[in-house]
Amino acid sequence: MSKAKLIRQGRIVTATEDFTGDVLVRDGKIVAVGQDLKAMADGAEVVDAKGLLVIPGGIDAHTHLDLPFMGTSSSDDFETGTIAAANGGTTSIIDFAIQSLGKSMGDALNVWHEKAAGKAVVDYAFHMAVTDLNDRTIAEVPGVIEGGVTSFKTFMAYKGALMVDDGQLFRLMEVVKKLGGIVTMHAENAELIETLVPRFLKEGKTDPVWHERAHTAIGEGEATNRAISLSRVAGHPCYIVHLTCDEALHHVKDSLTRHRHPVFAETCPQYLLLDREIYEKPNFEGAKWVMSPPLRTKNDQEALWAGIRDGFIQTIATDHCPFNFHGQKDVGKGNFAKIPNGAPGIENRMNLMYTYGVLENRISLNRFVQLMSTNPAKIFGMYPQKGTIAPGSDADIVLFDPKKENTISVKTSKQRCDYSSFEGFKTKGEPVAVMSRGEWLLKEGKITAPKGHGKFVKRARFTGTSEMVR
Ligand SMILES: [Zn+2]
Repeated sequence: MSKAKLIRQGRIVTATEDFTGDVLVRDGKIVAVGQDLKAMADGAEVVDAKGLLVIPGGIDAHTHLDLPFMGTSSSDDFETGTIAAANGGTTSIIDFAIQSLGKSMGDALNVWHEKAAGKAVVDYAFHMAVTDLNDRTIAEVPGVIEGGVTSFKTFMAYKGALMVDDGQLFRLMEVVKKLGGIVTMHAENAELIETLVPRFLKEGKTDPVWHERAHTAIGEGEATNRAISLSRVAGHPCYIVHLTCDEALHHVKDSLTRHRHPVFAETCPQYLLLDREIYEKPNFEGAKWVMSPPLRTKNDQEALWAGIRDGFIQTIATDHCPFNFHGQKDVGKGNFAKIPNGAPGIENRMNLMYTYGVLENRISLNRFVQLMSTNPAKIFGMYPQKGTIAPGSDADIVLFDPKKENTISVKTSKQRCDYSSFEGFKTKGEPVAVMSRGEWLLKEGKITAPKGHGKFVKRARFTGTSEMVR
């Protein structure tokens, strides 16, 4: 067990509190939080946190490490990707174990456990991504939940590869409702996409910008409404991953306000800070931001910020799914449909949301902590083990310097990818020390993360409603 640590006189911020004090860590857990804990801290390593924020370790509920996809694999594995995560203040991730057609859910979980174990430096959990739901595979759901995988992902897009139909989606919702899980969905209208893509290609419209034109905001809105409608009939909450636009947000609001039906929504920094004009960049550069759903308009960004402020969007994740520009993205030159979908971002969630959220007065410091950590912990069954600073919780702690300025660049990034989605973005505020279960992963700005430190987090069953995170 690691040595006890006393974090002295930092500004401790949780989802609901904000005060200056000490945190005492022993045997990987937080044992006390208070005004002056020196007397209790015999033999502890003392860390001066004056002038720093002391916040719960970040939880990124949406990552794709070592993901085989579109004929290649995402360029970060569980080691490099989680080092980048730790560098950015994220101490837990929830990655997606993706079922292969014709295979079982158990097979997928075995494969992902193998990818992560002994490599990850931050703690990890899995969403079970269901792609092949039938009488045989649905019988696996109780065992999957029993194993601590209590959330399920479905794709309403990627027809013929990952997509489930509405009937399968509805059946899954009914089953997990009984067993204490939650279904999350990638909401896009697959039929519309599959009609537009070949049409554009036939018309010679092959540049990255046509990816965005094929993945319409209206189609995303329609699918979001359909997902929520099924969830209302099933009488169980659902969670919309990477929501990008007002068209989709509208239905989330409608569900929560008019129908009083609980729905959770997640968005990502790229949808808040980048817009579709970037696809017009010359020399195929727009391919760097080819992801599904794609970047939207500046108006959509404003709608998302308002949605966060008003409590309709409860979590910020990254959808980190990096592919190198050279050697991976470029297979789609001359055919946008072949560009691997995804972009890097696991490292920059916290500094971007602090700089462009907190410092721009769009969100409070408490709201920042909720979005980064507390809400994903609550929704996905990790609270109060994670997501807060309180006695009994895991000592996953970030010391965040609110004054430290930086410029995001691929040159200094720990992500294993040959570009950054946010190249040139100025940031103010970043993690200077990061602790996971009482062990330093980052100290004095240097990575100290021991390979394989990360452990699988067995998550509790879903019991909540959206009231718990609004
Ligand atoms: Zn994703």
